[in-house]
Amino acid sequence: MSRKWSLILTTCALFIVLSLTGCYKPVDYPVIVRVLPLPKSGPETIADRSIENRPMVHTVQGQGSDVTFILAAIHGNEKAGIQLVHQLDKYLQQHPKLLEKRKVVLLPVANPDGVARNSRYNARGIDLNRNFPASNRINSNRFGRTALSEPESRFIFQLIRQYTPDRIVSIHEPLACIDYDGPSRALANRMARYCKLPIKKIGAKPGSLGSHAGVTLGIPIITLELPKGAHRFRSEYLWRQYGPALIAAIVYPYRIK
Ligand SMILES: [Zn+2]
Repeated sequence: MSRKWSLILTTCALFIVLSLTGCYKPVDYPVIVRVLPLPKSGPETIADRSIENRPMVHTVQGQGSDVTFILAAIHGNEKAGIQLVHQLDKYLQQHPKLLEKRKVVLLPVANPDGVARNSRYNARGIDLNRNFPASNRINSNRFGRTALSEPESRFIFQLIRQYTPDRIVSIHEPLACIDYDGPSRALANRMARYCKLPIKKIGAKPGSLGSHAGVTLGIPIITLELPKGAHRFRSEYLWRQYGPALIAAIVYPYRIK
């Protein structure tokens, strides 16, 4: 054996002996970990864009287990609810005590393309509030060839699946009443105490959010119909008139102090 090989073998043997006896420890080099952004999509992907690629922005306040979901403008020409939901968002930020043990999910613009063109329908001419998989749904050009054919209704459907709300309020115009579906008569009564709108049972419309959430899923759901021309009201006035009813829904079954 050459001198060179004998030196290599001796060195290796020495390392093995030192490692086994714990006398030699390899240097701990710091491991560089690249923090990757969370994937935007996953098994519970929520498509948050409209047909015309407008964002569907929802906000969540509070960490509690009691969940209220409030949305507006699923009919794009019924815009008063948008400012009302923005006002509610601000109010909740200023009154965090209301959010103890509660979570509030807000979707101020449920039909962004309809809002952009001041239309009841989405960009494909579909009434989103007839596009949900309720047992009374009708397939048609106006209601969609299938349930959840539209990205906007799919997004609302997924929000409900993700947050499993205890109650839902969907803000509309111009029928000036509190309509309800599913087990929500008591909630309607409570909200009616805090605004001047009468309770009226309009009846479950085919494939509506009320039919889907209230009747099919059994989630109390209120359709808050603001009066005609409500979108022309100043937002402070709107808030004074209808904000307390929304807060009453959030704190339900407790009363507003
Ligand atoms: Zn409507």
